[in-house]
Amino acid sequence: MDQEVIPKTILNWIDGEECEAITGDTFGKLSPVSGKELGRVARSRVEDVQKAIQVARRAQPAWADSTPVYRGDLLYDIAQAMRKQQEEIASIVSLETGMSFKQALGETGGAIAQGEFMAGEGRRLYGRTTTSAVPNKYAMVVRQPLGVAGLIIAANTPIANVAWKVFPALICGNAAVLKAAEDTPATAWIVGRIAKEVGLPPGVLNIIQGYGEEAGAPLVASPEVDVISFTGSTEVGRQIAEVAGRRLAKVSLELGGKNPLVVCDDADLENAANWVLLSAFSNAGQRCASGSRIIIFDSIYEKFRNLLVERTEKLKVGPGDDDDFGPVINEVQLTNMLSAIERAREKGAVVLTGGHRLTDPAHVDGFYMAPTILENVDPQDEISTKEIFGPITCLYRVQDFAEALNLANDSPYGLTACIHTRSIHRAIEFTQKIQAGVAMVNAGTYGSEPHMPFGGLKQSGNGTREPGTEALDVYSDLKDIYINIDTEML
Ligand code: NAD
Repeated sequence: MDQEVIPKTILNWIDGEECEAITGDTFGKLSPVSGKELGRVARSRVEDVQKAIQVARRAQPAWADSTPVYRGDLLYDIAQAMRKQQEEIASIVSLETGMSFKQALGETGGAIAQGEFMAGEGRRLYGRTTTSAVPNKYAMVVRQPLGVAGLIIAANTPIANVAWKVFPALICGNAAVLKAAEDTPATAWIVGRIAKEVGLPPGVLNIIQGYGEEAGAPLVASPEVDVISFTGSTEVGRQIAEVAGRRLAKVSLELGGKNPLVVCDDADLENAANWVLLSAFSNAGQRCASGSRIIIFDSIYEKFRNLLVERTEKLKVGPGDDDDFGPVINEVQLTNMLSAIERAREKGAVVLTGGHRLTDPAHVDGFYMAPTILENVDPQDEISTKEIFGPITCLYRVQDFAEALNLANDSPYGLTACIHTRSIHRAIEFTQKIQAGVAMVNAGTYGSEPHMPFGGLKQSGNGTREPGTEALDVYSDLKDIYINIDTEML
């Protein structure tokens, strides 16, 4: 793969121009595969963020005055340009994250589909007309842009994360300041380049590189940012909600998960094992929707556990298209995973497979975690209740459906959940009673579509949904309009 696709220094996009951080500072972006530097990244701070916000404020009124159809056409052009450059984008995603090119290509396809869907909203952006109790009075509801949208994203599925926020924010008539994830700066950068090539008016989409506390926090704190949309950890989401709450700014939080996958005694065990492996380990477990709590009926526990362990030990870990999953995003995350496993061990957890860093010659330079399965963990232990965001999953034994459902719901999170069963009764009961924003049957805990609202309950979010048409609710305000007809003028 050609490393030239990543610029030597990845800069900000402000007012349609690439620019360094005002201080000229940079930091290094390392390859998760080799541990070597892929490029330098502009290290923005409060002054850079304020500049981007001012530019966005200036550009926003004209953008809001353009018709939604015009905006949709431009966003459609951006999506088509992304399609033309899909391989280049995928190469960047793959280099920055260590995921295979094949997987990155698929993720980029999903981001393009998101763009196409949201571009189509330019011809809809439905409001409502309704009745009035008063004669000769007409009532309607229309959508209005909010102003400047501050967008902050995680690195795990980087191009999808950009698309999920940028397209709905812009179609609604907002200008945006996107704070790229520090681990995937070039993925955000290339979207800025494409937007410029396509002719998006300068200042409508600004992209800021930098660390969370230095470049993300000032965006959240600025009174000139009208909506903050954040995808990341529950811990940071809570801080953002506090800061934004003080100035009553609108906030959308898409946070972490500790997602259960229930395997019943009547499940197709081969199929269930396939989905457990994908849910737990694909993308190195770096999914908000990864399956990290596998809840198994007692009568099939040993058989299913043995099947999982056997299949896990055959997984290929590496950056290639033939590998099952790649490295984790950085050394700090890897160290956190190892210490979480160590603490679980001290509490009596049994590591069935994995539990360590891969240090053989093929993996030693990268940030590789062995696929890990634990059992004998208490549902209240840290390992059961705190998201780890790596290729690590825990097994739990239950007697029956009622206990499985209780355990699945016994979590501070409520993002996604899945059940494997041949019983329609169990499947429907589960989808009705599970406390999650997404419920699946005979599938994985992950996987979402651009036209469907995604988001979680409890500590997985604050009740908003992105994407789907529900994302329009995040990025627009509703306005009631009443019109009295003067009958004498008739
Ligand atoms: P993180 O919360 O550490 O960082 C996410 C983003 O927030 C980064 O861009 C970071 O720079 C920024 N940030 C950090 N501190 C900040 C602060 N004080 N103010 C403003 N911005 C700040 O998360 P991460 O480890 O990079 O990402 C993994 C997390 O993202 C997991 O918890 C995962 O579940 C979650 N996630 C959720 C969804 C979803 O849709 N629910 C999707 C993907 C990832």
